[in-house]
Amino acid sequence: MAASVMRGYEGWDVDIERPTGLEEALGALAAQPGATLLAGGTDLMVEVNYHARLPRRVIAVRRVEELKQWEGRRLGAGVTFGRIEHGPIRALAQLARTVGSPQIRAAATIGGNLGTASPAGDSHPFLAACDAHIELQSRRGIRTLRWDEFLVGVKQTSRADDELITAVMLPEAMPHRQEFAKIGVRSAMVIATVSACVMVDDEGQARVALGAVGPTVHLGCKKSSPGVITRRDRRSRAPSAGRPCKRTPSGTPPCW
Ligand SMILES: Cc1cc2nc3c(=O)[nH]c(=O)nc-3n(C[C@H](O)[C@H](O)[C@H](O)COP(=O)(O)OP(=O)(O)OC[C@H]3O[C@@H](n4cnc5c(N)ncnc54)[C@H](O)[C@@H]3O)c2cc1C
Repeated sequence: MAASVMRGYEGWDVDIERPTGLEEALGALAAQPGATLLAGGTDLMVEVNYHARLPRRVIAVRRVEELKQWEGRRLGAGVTFGRIEHGPIRALAQLARTVGSPQIRAAATIGGNLGTASPAGDSHPFLAACDAHIELQSRRGIRTLRWDEFLVGVKQTSRADDELITAVMLPEAMPHRQEFAKIGVRSAMVIATVSACVMVDDEGQARVALGAVGPTVHLGCKKSSPGVITRRDRRSRAPSAGRPCKRTPSGTPPCW
């Protein structure tokens, strides 16, 4: 495994390990639980640039081939939005096209979007609308959590220190009728003010998941909370619009 020590900002030295396989990555994480994972770096490096996070130990997983695999309903954590936007799943491709710019999408991964767990993460309403699961692996084994068991708060997940997000598991049958939409202050390169993903199954049952409407609405919610509404309960559970995620105040990184 390639490893190096990088001298960055004054007083910031970082040990970087660059595993090329999943076993190697899990071994590195088991040896140093709590090390910071680096995938495309489009969130992490922004935090580093703002000195909001200066990790001492980084495990860069971009070379881990197993994470880049996308087979049927199993979408590897290292699959980039640049690939997803050309994929076969309508709403997933739609949301991928709204992520940053082509340059960002070439690097940004779905695993990183989940790892950051921002209320405005654009993949989250889609994952909620189709009731996706998140696969986590460590040397201790594999566990699979439903999206709302994984995303538990603003920038909080239930990932353990020695676990790697390895894949997103989509349902066996995806509803054919599905749409994603995002509203922001401009039409491109924008943090969602609100995003929505709607899926309608063959029985006409609609699931609507909203993103970025509040700090915890869809991130922390259980199936019965206001983040996901179905046609049956829409009158009793109309989502209340909360405050959107804060914009970039000077000196702090943007909150995607
Ligand atoms: C200019 C710009 C525009 C952007 N536009 C959007 C946008 O429109 N919509 C949107 O949702 N986001 C946007 N983002 C944010 C970012 O691109 C996404 O959140 C992206 O998906 C992060 O993926 P990454 O691979 O770059 O993650 P990284 O930056 O590498 O990592 C992000 C976090 O996830 C953790 N992590 C990464 N991989 C794993 C893993 N396999 N297991 C466990 N933890 C992991 C890291 O430790 C880190 O905490 C934008 C960012 C920038 C800089």
